[in-house]
Amino acid sequence: MFEQTTRQMLDFIEKSPSCFHVVKNVADMLEAAGFIRLSEEDRWDIRKGGKYFTTRNGSSLIAFNIPADGGNGCRIIASHSDSPCFKIKENPEIAVENCYVKLNVEKYGGMLCAPWFDRPLSVAGRVVVKEDGRLTAKPVNVDRDLFVIPSLAIHMNREANNGQQYNVQKDLLPLYGDFSAKDTFMTLIADTAGVGKEDILAHDLYLYNRVRGCIWGADNAFVSSARLDDLQCAFSTLQGFLQGSKEKYAAVYCVLDNEEVGSETRQGAASAFLYDTWMRVNESLGGSYEDYVRSLSKSFLISADNAHAVHPNAADKADPVNRPQMNGGIVIKYSANQKYCTDAMSAAFLKDLCRKAEVPYQTFTNRSDMQGGSTLGNIATTKVTVRAADIGLAQLAMHSPYETAGVKDAYYMVKAAKTYYE
Ligand code: ZN
Repeated sequence: MFEQTTRQMLDFIEKSPSCFHVVKNVADMLEAAGFIRLSEEDRWDIRKGGKYFTTRNGSSLIAFNIPADGGNGCRIIASHSDSPCFKIKENPEIAVENCYVKLNVEKYGGMLCAPWFDRPLSVAGRVVVKEDGRLTAKPVNVDRDLFVIPSLAIHMNREANNGQQYNVQKDLLPLYGDFSAKDTFMTLIADTAGVGKEDILAHDLYLYNRVRGCIWGADNAFVSSARLDDLQCAFSTLQGFLQGSKEKYAAVYCVLDNEEVGSETRQGAASAFLYDTWMRVNESLGGSYEDYVRSLSKSFLISADNAHAVHPNAADKADPVNRPQMNGGIVIKYSANQKYCTDAMSAAFLKDLCRKAEVPYQTFTNRSDMQGGSTLGNIATTKVTVRAADIGLAQLAMHSPYETAGVKDAYYMVKAAKTYYE
């Protein structure tokens, strides 16, 4: 069961090379499970006992399942659809000495740069065309090995192993073809999207790592793949959301874009997307503003985003006492400065939940002399004021294009999410 869940997750990640593909694939799974798609533009007619979802920008999605009696508050889980990567800029081709064509890219999010070198990459995202008088986004994934970012040989940089610095504009532009490839990149994108090159008005295109995910190690203990942060949580909490009964609480599943760049966008956790959605559900069910606030006061939000495992070659980077391990179950994340929104009340709720679900849990805090990262929980709860906690699954190499996690942990997250929603 552990390996089976992880293999399903790897299939999902492979089909989801960009945030737009994540949302499309989640939407397809929801529709297959009987959820009704709602457009933000339309008037909503929500029924008790119904299952619905809506999307914003094609890169964020909120699904909800209303119990027959409307439910006593809601149980929300939020993860993110984006991962650090390189975005392809406007007019992307750069010719090099009548010899090569490379592409102009910039950073999206804070990634480890070194592991992007010397491996097959491709491009995915969306293009926007005008169709029947309307601007329409089309997902694109060039499903073949298309670029490599080549390293500079050790002979040309003897300092390469002594603390290398990377300049994206100079060092990290992907090689696309020899000179005969000039002026073909946007044609390739248009052909893949099934549109005319001249019909493409704009694009959001990103590089992604083509190395396939795999399960490995003695006893197959580990899984490595692109985008485990945060598709491991996005996938496993979706599985938990789709399973089990929804009788007590309205169950809400969110996968939100732009966490890696601070969430402050129209569709990110700092937007009013969750507020708008839940307000509309409340109104459509005949609730007043007071009913909305009372419902939130009985609700809970879990922010599910991966956590750092103790590193085998850098064990001193972890807190001396709180030391998450891969395959050790749900990681409850704490930060005194509230970069994580866990507090004693919400942590107690989570520990109680894990016991009920019969899932192991562990705790993460930063070393007191390290700043650590942040996530979407504390941002989301400034817009939708519910009690909340931060959790994740333990992993290594966070923000590398090939990350490593435990083979058991996705299954634990499915079980915990299912129990939570019930
Ligand atoms: Zn993350």
